[in-house]
Amino acid sequence: MEDTIFGKITRGEIPTEFLYEDDHCVAIRDINPQAPTHVLIIPRKPIPRLVDSGAEDQELLGHLLLVAGRVADKLGVGEAFRLVINNGEGGGQTVFHLHLHILAGREMTEGQLSAGLN
Ligand code: 5GP
Repeated sequence: MEDTIFGKITRGEIPTEFLYEDDHCVAIRDINPQAPTHVLIIPRKPIPRLVDSGAEDQELLGHLLLVAGRVADKLGVGEAFRLVINNGEGGGQTVFHLHLHILAGREMTEGQLSAGLN
């Protein structure tokens, strides 16, 4: 796959504040926040899209969910947040390195499922 901005960020080639990091993933603030709290959980492994992940990624995918919950809690939004994964251009994905969006701090009403809209 081609390298992306998230590859450079996870490798530390672009200085970015990590709200959380471990051997498998990092958490950063979104550069164009769609909610008062908008954080991205990015695996260090550059899987382009969720649909490109395989059985070998099962543990990593579970880890990303656990980290998302912990980071949300740490940021004080553990009681009310939304987790979004955009998959593919038609799904609103713009950076083709798998990532989870944590969105919080505004009302999350039914039908507003996109990270980038509303
Ligand atoms: P996607 O649309 O692929 O699901 O989400 C990509 C997200 O990455 C967007 O919300 C966009 O604002 C964010 N983003 C793109 N480039 C950068 C960057 O260089 N730094 C940070 N922190 N976020 C970025």
